[in-house]
Formats: sequence, C-alpha cells, structure tokens
Amino acid sequence: MSLNFEHVTLGQRVLFGSGKAAGNLAAEVTRLGARKVMVIASEFEAPIAKKVTADISVTLDYDDVAPHVPIEKAEKARAAAQEHGIDLLVCVGGGSTTGLAKAIALTTGLPIIAVPTTYAGSEATNVWGLTEAARKTTGVDDRVLPATVVYDAELTLSLPADLSVASGLNALAHCVDSMWGPRVDPINQALAAEGIRALNQGLPLVNQDPSGLEGREQALYGAYLAAVAFASAGSGMHHKICHVLGGTWNMPHAQTHATVLPYVLAFNAPEAPDAAARIAAAFGTGNAVEGLNRLRATLDAPKALKDYGFTEDNIAEAVDIILPVIPASNPRTPTRENLTELLAAATAGTTPGL
Ligand code: NAD
Repeated sequence: MSLNFEHVTLGQRVLFGSGKAAGNLAAEVTRLGARKVMVIASEFEAPIAKKVTADISVTLDYDDVAPHVPIEKAEKARAAAQEHGIDLLVCVGGGSTTGLAKAIALTTGLPIIAVPTTYAGSEATNVWGLTEAARKTTGVDDRVLPATVVYDAELTLSLPADLSVASGLNALAHCVDSMWGPRVDPINQALAAEGIRALNQGLPLVNQDPSGLEGREQALYGAYLAAVAFASAGSGMHHKICHVLGGTWNMPHAQTHATVLPYVLAFNAPEAPDAAARIAAAFGTGNAVEGLNRLRATLDAPKALKDYGFTEDNIAEAVDIILPVIPASNPRTPTRENLTELLAAATAGTTPGL
C-alpha cells in the first residue's frame, strides 16, 4: 500500500505518573502563570479534586456538573468564571466534568488543565458537546482542547470494576473504529493498535484486582491513545450505530458500545485485511474477532442488545436511520440486508464471527 495521507496532531502536554497528579498540576499552574484557578469536579469527584489541588491556590471550587452538559449548566458556569476573573480551568473527573470545562472554554477561550478519573478520553480531543431541550449538539473547536492533561492512575482506583470495564471497552471501541474512520491514516492506526494492546492487557487486571495499579496504568494509557486516534480518524460505522441506538431508543451508552463492537469488527474485518491484521496482532492472536471475543469473555462483557430494551421489531427503523450515516470510508459496503443481519445478531447476542 502506498503511503499518502494528511494528518493533524493536536498540540497538548501530557504528564503521566501514578501518585504525581498534585505535583504535576502545581508545576503546570506555575508554568502557565495562572493566578485565578477555577476547579471543576462533581460532588462525587470532589474528594479526589481536593487531594489533587492541595498544592495550588484555588479561587473557585465548582461542582454543578451534569451528564451531557446541559446548556443552562454551561451558561451558569461561564458566568461564575467571569464573575471571579478566572484565568485557568482545572477539571478533575470523568467525561461529564471535562465536558463542562470545555463548554466554558468554548466561549471564553480560557485554558484547561484536565485531570481525568475515567477512561472516557474527552481530555485528549477538541470535541465539545452541549445538550439543549434534550438534543445533544457536538462540535469541533481547538479552544476546548485542554492545554495539559495530568494522568494519575491512582485517581481511577475508586472507579468500580464494572464501570471501569464499561468505560475501558468504550475506549477500545474508539481504537477499533479508528481503523476505518473517515479520516483514517497510518498514524491513527498505529496509535489505535497500541491502545488495543494496552487495554487488552490492562482491563483484565483491573477486573481481577480493581485496587491494583498496573492494570489501571495500562488502561489509562490505552484510553488516552484511543481518544487521540479517534479524534483524528473520526466516527466510523460502530459509533454511527451506537449513536443512533442511544439517541433513538435511549440505550445505555457503555453497554451498547460493548455489545455492538464485535459485530462491527466481524462485519468489516474480511474487507479490511490490513486493519484486521493490526487489530489481531494488538490482541496477540491470529484473528481480530477472536481476540476481541476472548477479551469480552474474560471481562464478562454485555452480550445482547435485547438485554437493554432493544427488540427485533426495532431493527427495520434502526436500519433506516443508520444506513445513510455510515461513512463512505467503511471497508465493507453496508446494505439494508447486511445491516439487518448485523443488528439481528447483536440483538440476539449470537457469538459474532461464528
Ligand atoms: P461521567 O463523567 O458521567 O462519570 C460517570 C460517573 O462516575 C459519575 O457519577 C462520576 O462522578 C463518577 N466518577 C468519575 N470518576 C470516578 C472515580 N475515579 N471514582 C469513582 N467515581 C468516579 O462518565 P464518563 O464515561 O467519564 O464520560 C461520559 C461523558 O463524556 C459523555 O457525556 C460523553 O459524551 C462524554 N465524552 C466526550 C468526549 C469528547 O471528545 N468530547 C469523549 C468521550 C466522552
């Protein structure tokens, strides 16, 4: 295959080290010359934030965080930042908390230092999301890309095993879909492959021993690579399917991703031999689908869409909505028939690829 591509690398400092978040954050605040820091963390994340921000001077602690960034919450947070003359945002938490910091940065241009505590990966992207009247809008703007990410696996130790597995499989879906996203290139593929390797190694360890650091570090590192690859490659077939299922049938996010992923991989792999070989190698197996099935079995991952309220009767409507939004870059051409088959198998939970 000849090498011919265009790739944009987003500029961001990444500081990774277990037990080092407070020190790394303090050094970054000094380096950026910030004087008035707003710390954003939800009520549940506040104890983590307190430890992480122990060495910096905080002007405003802010905890009015909600999933999917409702516009009213964003406007209230923007007003609070302005009222206190804030010059730096520090967010400590999952994707919802990072999302609120991004919403403030979008209109104010304030820099962000993100300290993630889940494997969502929002901290490594320039994508923002806001919800208004139950409709989620997303957009791309470099102002929302955190200037610095401070990763510390110790901060993820309190994330329960089931939530860690779901969040980690969501990161794995970022990697797999990056292999054929609309802006796929060899750099995204290399990052995604290393992300798969790290998540495949880390997630079983996290599942067995949620309080062990080794698995947590690998999972967090993999989640970062997944987000970088995905931000660059863009949403592929898997994310288009999950977006429709989540938006139209209100399916739970992580479970839907975990269930659908192997079916999309089994669907595309025969038509994408290079990507399939990279994915297989990253899993340490000879076959990509087998590698993913093995990891999912180890993690006892969700298996069937029917377990989450989706039924066979919904398939025809889902196909209508999904078919037109699958990117032209997808290796296998989707048709009404093959997409119906894929969704029927995912609904029933038939082992993918067999
Ligand atoms: P979340 O931020 O809603 O967190 C889930 C729950 O876990 C919350 O109750 C939170 O308080 C808790 N939590 C977080 N860290 C914890 C820890 N270490 N220990 C114990 N509890 C903890 O969920 P999420 O999965 O991190 O993020 C999902 C959101 O992020 C979605 O809105 C999604 O759309 C968004 N997202 C955006 C991007 C992007 O690029 N813009 C990328 C990925 C996800």
